[in-house]
Amino acid sequence: MIPPVLPTYNRAPIAFERGEGAWAITADGTRYLDLGSGIAVNSLGHANPDLVAALTEQAGRIWHVSNLYQIPQQQALAERLVAATFADTVFVTNSGTEAAELAIKMVRKYWDHAGEPDRTEIVTFAGAFHGRSTGAIAAAGSEKMTKGYGPLMPGFHQVPWDDAEALRDAVTSRTAAIMVEPIQGEGGIRPLGDETMALLAELRETTGCLLVFDEVQCGMGRTGRLFAHEWSGVTPDIMMVAKGIGGGFPLGAVLATEVAAAPMTAGTHGSTYGGNPLACAVGCKVMDIIAAPEFLAEVNRKAGLLRQKLEGLVAGHPDVFDSVRGQGLMLGLKCRVSPSELVEAGYAERLLTVPAADDTLRLLPPLNITDDEIAEAVTRLDRAAARIEG
Ligand SMILES: *Cc1c(COP(=O)(O)O)cnc(C)c1O
Repeated sequence: MIPPVLPTYNRAPIAFERGEGAWAITADGTRYLDLGSGIAVNSLGHANPDLVAALTEQAGRIWHVSNLYQIPQQQALAERLVAATFADTVFVTNSGTEAAELAIKMVRKYWDHAGEPDRTEIVTFAGAFHGRSTGAIAAAGSEKMTKGYGPLMPGFHQVPWDDAEALRDAVTSRTAAIMVEPIQGEGGIRPLGDETMALLAELRETTGCLLVFDEVQCGMGRTGRLFAHEWSGVTPDIMMVAKGIGGGFPLGAVLATEVAAAPMTAGTHGSTYGGNPLACAVGCKVMDIIAAPEFLAEVNRKAGLLRQKLEGLVAGHPDVFDSVRGQGLMLGLKCRVSPSELVEAGYAERLLTVPAADDTLRLLPPLNITDDEIAEAVTRLDRAAARIEG
């Protein structure tokens, strides 16, 4: 018999009752060290006092008003994002998927407005993840996500991951946009190489195509810069953000340049909940904390510490681990065993990690994890690996 909750997830038999910083705690008081952060969502840890205050203060005033009216918290969040990034304008959503949908619509609208309505092809990459809507699964194109859901939305062309030559061949003066995660998350913590990143900028220059960066997972301080593309110096025309920006409250956004967003006038897009006062009050607080240079410097310092310890871990367990990859506190352990086995062994050591494709174990700790917690996490990973070695 089908359970009351639609069984689309493979859930571990663990339920958390509360959280404190990097710790998730079950009803019987068992404490798990959380290196998953709800998949890069709880960027400032569980029950962060500043975020709890921002949310509860707003909750006591007003929860929801329609976008028929001014929403000062939404305005404030958009102003913060514009001030801190390449963007001139922001649309606030509730999730990464909704951000992906708008990004795709914005690309199509841009070319329609430019008098090239047939210029609809968006080039994407194998292993990509942009969400689970019909548009987002067509964009990523993986068999696992699209099987049984045809006919797929047309207009996407996938090229192999980080294959500069294939990208050069695929992008022509008919390409509407290239959409890419600067570091693939679900795909296995795979950073786009410098050469391919530079090629993106070159292809935009030569063909006029738009660049769409999906920073839903790698953005919001995760890599030690506010957004991952800042490391490369290549800025997008349109960018999707979600996950970490809400610190655990559902929140996403599409950021764009004035040129890319110009045709998005009144009535061309909308959302009931997108940009509601609760989400935006939290988002403003998250931005105030994470965008501070001192905070990002600390992320980089801690990332160096964690990475160094992980290199030691890999060297100590050559039959379990292959290598460390990623940037900042978005790190992956490429495994020689199934990453799911390591996730299981992690549960036994009271450690939460997340599997990804390409035999990779994802480590996405809260950005404010302490040095002691980093040391403790690696100790637990060491014990988890020893369990597998038997
Ligand atoms: C999680 C994710 C999404 C989808 O976000 P949701 O909030 O789950 O809809 C899109 N792109 C990337 C890179 C993601 O990691």
